[in-house]
Amino acid sequence: MTDRVAPVASSADVARRMRATRQRDTPAELALRRLLHRRGLRYQVDSRPTPKVKNRADIVFPREMVAVFVDGCFWHGCPEHGTWPKANADWWRRKIEANRQRDRKVVTTLEADGWVAMRMWEHEDLELSADRVEELIRSRRRAASSGSRE
Ligand SMILES: [Zn+2]
Repeated sequence: MTDRVAPVASSADVARRMRATRQRDTPAELALRRLLHRRGLRYQVDSRPTPKVKNRADIVFPREMVAVFVDGCFWHGCPEHGTWPKANADWWRRKIEANRQRDRKVVTTLEADGWVAMRMWEHEDLELSADRVEELIRSRRRAASSGSRE
């Protein structure tokens, strides 16, 4: 069995809402990218880190093998701001739970392949998030340059 959720309670409205809600280029993503860019970091946007995962990451550093995901509070069920719609509540709950499961699986797959996956909530302080990413990138570079001959 897969964890695919059948949209049993799906109405035309729900389907339209799902299509209309693009998860890329959210304000949080754009702002984080701007901050990272200003720090001199260069990255790929909205791309698959490795063929081993089907999902795209929001920000990808191929050489350092770091994938950053900026998770929307609604779609990924943020414990602080996640809301559960009342209409089609069951369907939404399963949909969001499936998203969360997939999020965890992507992290596991990436890590098994030597990547570091960083997930952050869109509500998090962006400067702090940028700090975390920058620190990680720099430490990966240090590790790569000192560990290559071991
Ligand atoms: Zn949140």
